[in-house]
Amino acid sequence: MSTPSSLASGPDGPRALRPLLDTVLDALAEGAEARGGPLPAGGPQAVAARVRDAVGDVLPDQGDPNALHTLVRTFAAHSADPAHPLCTAHLHCPPLATATAADLAATALNPSLDSWDQAPAAAELERLVTRALAGAIYPGGAAGRADALVTTGGTEANQLALLLARETHGATVRLVHGANAHHSLPRAAWLLGLPEPAVVPAPAGVLDPTALDQALSALPGPYVVAATAGTTDAGLIDPLPDIADLCAAHGARLHIDAAYGAGLLFSDRHRTKLTGLDAADTITLDLHKLGWQPLAAGLLAVKNPRDLTALHQHADYLNADDDTDAGLPDLLGRSLRTSRRPDILKIAVTLKTLGRTGLGTLVDQVCDRAHQFADLVHHHPGFELYDRPTISTVLFRPAHTTDDAVAAVRRTLLTDGRAVLGRAHTNGRLWLKTTLLNPHTRPDDLAALLKLVEGNTPR
Ligand SMILES: *Cc1c(COP(=O)(O)O)cnc(C)c1O
Repeated sequence: MSTPSSLASGPDGPRALRPLLDTVLDALAEGAEARGGPLPAGGPQAVAARVRDAVGDVLPDQGDPNALHTLVRTFAAHSADPAHPLCTAHLHCPPLATATAADLAATALNPSLDSWDQAPAAAELERLVTRALAGAIYPGGAAGRADALVTTGGTEANQLALLLARETHGATVRLVHGANAHHSLPRAAWLLGLPEPAVVPAPAGVLDPTALDQALSALPGPYVVAATAGTTDAGLIDPLPDIADLCAAHGARLHIDAAYGAGLLFSDRHRTKLTGLDAADTITLDLHKLGWQPLAAGLLAVKNPRDLTALHQHADYLNADDDTDAGLPDLLGRSLRTSRRPDILKIAVTLKTLGRTGLGTLVDQVCDRAHQFADLVHHHPGFELYDRPTISTVLFRPAHTTDDAVAAVRRTLLTDGRAVLGRAHTNGRLWLKTTLLNPHTRPDDLAALLKLVEGNTPR
């Protein structure tokens, strides 16, 4: 039914895909079983050697009909599995099966969002979903006007936010960010040729408003202040209302990087942690973090859609004026990319399948797990807890030991493929980090994780 040159779309697409999907699903299952844990065992050199052996000749003279099975099985056997309960290092979420299935449809149909004639459904779906999400983020005043752009993630969203700040306030606009801000922000300032950013201390892990006030008083403007809702290291949320007030007082533009924290909006229990979010001119969201999407699923929400006129771009083959006048939507100004995947389909399917309540429940579950893990650490005499979690990140370390021992236990567990923990330097010490994003993790898994760390810390 399927030959190497069968196509994924068209009338025969589904028939060609079906047996291949069986192959892929079998290979995924076999690979996961061969791996046996969250990460392949052996460390980088051994894993690379096994992948090289399995792949063999990358571009053979004659094709290999088993390549799909061989490579997917190898890929799965040597991947980090974010759905494994002991894979908790990063903001690397296990994607929902529903979203993944939707993404297959997006891939098969392959719409490209650079012109309407390549993506009629995707164009309208993206318009609907981005407006709805922007309306949820900016309720009240800005509702109905706010918009959002789809990005490849927080990095691209932060870049766009600074670009819009530059186009609104001029090329002398200075980025003012906390010492806790994501590295992509100063990098975007560098990329855009903005003045040297001002870094405001974040002694307790969150941006200090008094220090921000001083920075804004001391430096020549204009400014774009970047606050964080959900720091990468500790999942902390900057004091957003205070920061918003200071920005208003100093006439500064405000960007909030909520790549991690924005998912709290889905939860009735946790939403109030984001109070003040809607004061921002622009907001970064990553639904491939607290939104359970396969990569990539970033967004930049923009309060005033007039800001987006800066992105307008003309290319006769994609958005000729007479086509636009005739009613063909102009998509080119919605991204700096040209060809663009319809990442909106998996997002739309997820939002509609789970609803706000379903997503809110997942958020509540991972936040509950983080509290349970913090309790376990707190009550264990062999461990030190950094702090109670704000979202779903817990920093901890074995008690009475050195930073070197903390670093070593993390690498031992990585190398053995038994647990994937992150690391964060804070308060002058190195901590182990768990970022709990798997709603199905059980309390037993958390106890097992702690036991593994205990048993493998060098003394
Ligand atoms: C993850 C993250 C980013 C970067 O997002 P990508 O999707 O990895 O590009 C930016 N800011 C914060 C706070 C993040 O947690």
